[in-house]
Amino acid sequence: MTDEICPTCGSALAEVSETPTGRKLQRCTKNIWNAETHKSEGCPYVKWLEVPPETLDEKCPKCGSPLVLAVTRFGKKLKKCSTGGWDKDAKKATGCDYVEWINGTTEKLEEVCPDCGSALVLFTTNAGKKMKKCSTAGWDRATRQATGCTYVEWLK
Ligand SMILES: [Zn+2]
Ligand SMILES: [Zn+2]
Ligand SMILES: [Zn+2]
Repeated sequence: MTDEICPTCGSALAEVSETPTGRKLQRCTKNIWNAETHKSEGCPYVKWLEVPPETLDEKCPKCGSPLVLAVTRFGKKLKKCSTGGWDKDAKKATGCDYVEWINGTTEKLEEVCPDCGSALVLFTTNAGKKMKKCSTAGWDRATRQATGCTYVEWLK
């Protein structure tokens, strides 16, 4: 337990926990998860903690400033320029607007695709799920269709 107090009911807040997508939160200790009804009972207060952006070893292609890795409240990851910001009063973006969304990471494997014999890659989604897929697989943005080999194997 921490020294922090729930602003809703005055109880202590529980320890910081982490969602599968890497977001951090503190629930009220009076917030109890009912496994039978799949609902939380008691005090509904949840305090979301800001995940501090991590400075990357990469430079912004637009202005040369360092890039930072940020996580949205929905768990999506993006790289953005460290000079980029948001002016709350003017409701507009300030600084450099370079943003690159990250859809997961791919890693080359030593295995070959059982369907076509090309190399397989290990794909990790933002939510931490892993799958093996064929390195020839792609996505045609213009036609919104998958291209190449469709072999996919989800890992547990
Ligand atoms: Zn509370
Ligand atoms: Zn920039
Ligand atoms: Zn294949």
